Amino acid sequence: MPTVNAFAATSASGPLSRTTIERRDVGAKDVLIEIAYSGICHSDIHTVRGEWGDITYPQVVGHEIVGTVTEVGSEVTLHKVGDRVGVGCMVNSCRECENCIAGEEQYCLNGNTGTYASVDRDGTITQGGYSTHIVVVEDFVLRVPEAIPFEKAAPLLCAGITTYSPLAHWKVGPGSRVAVVGMGGLGHMAVKIAHAMGAEVTVLSQSLSKQEDGLRLGADHYYATSDPATFDKLKNTFDLIVNSVSAKIDINAYLSLLRLDGTLVSVGAPPEPLPVQVFSLFGNRRSFAGSGIGSIRETQEMLDFCAEHGIAPETELVAADYINEAYERVLASDVRYRFVIDAATLA
Ligand SMILES: [Zn+2]
Ligand SMILES: [Zn+2]
Repeated sequence: MPTVNAFAATSASGPLSRTTIERRDVGAKDVLIEIAYSGICHSDIHTVRGEWGDITYPQVVGHEIVGTVTEVGSEVTLHKVGDRVGVGCMVNSCRECENCIAGEEQYCLNGNTGTYASVDRDGTITQGGYSTHIVVVEDFVLRVPEAIPFEKAAPLLCAGITTYSPLAHWKVGPGSRVAVVGMGGLGHMAVKIAHAMGAEVTVLSQSLSKQEDGLRLGADHYYATSDPATFDKLKNTFDLIVNSVSAKIDINAYLSLLRLDGTLVSVGAPPEPLPVQVFSLFGNRRSFAGSGIGSIRETQEMLDFCAEHGIAPETELVAADYINEAYERVLASDVRYRFVIDAATLA
């Protein structure tokens, strides 16, 4: 088993630190990827701190991974040595349930295998992208088009697909009015993608501090939700609202902004329940929905879409030794808009 360098959490409260981990031998259907870049997602922080449940330490996180194929198993047909590839939030699924057969393996009824902190088929705990190499079964590996700058591509594998999937599912296109709640890692990608799909895009952010960025990235309008006049002005406006905020919001106030048959879809995950007034849904026959990452097929579609439209995340490249400081800045919303780790600094 190859031993590789990594950056791991060793407890819920301590800092992450350098370590080595073992990757499995490359099986017949596996590819070995030399990781080039790995994004830092807020989920990584929740996971290592045990905020989404107890985990086993040491744990390497990171599920926004791009790199180069350096070895393939004997039965691999989808990738070859030298290919630019990506790995997102999942590395396997049961392949047998109704949802897997429908090509929606992110919703695998037996639970998809997460890229980290998940029980793998061999019983080991999966270890993520803050590492120099990873071994992944070929059909959970994506092609990263040349048109996407490699050092910016990693966040597409979580932030990109998580926002692309609901925008595609609810058929956003020219004439659609889309609102994006929150201008962070997910929100800024939602703005870029919805704009590229042809929608009229509005950002609803707590303050106007990122207004200039929002308009530059493709928003047509930008409103502060701290101003109550915003909710009066925008009543009955949107076909789709994508909520990227993982904190409690006044869901009924946002629902009132949907026009006929509009949907508010949450991709942010507030820890506490959001009380919905059913009367908020009666008016305009509104829907309140959730959406989690996206399928492998849809992730490839998203990468190809981003290549075609010249879309890449706004990123800040950091060395591995900066990860702990980067976490503090993510928690303080002090990043525009995604940290990416240069895996060469782990070598
Ligand atoms: Zn993520
Ligand atoms: Zn399944």
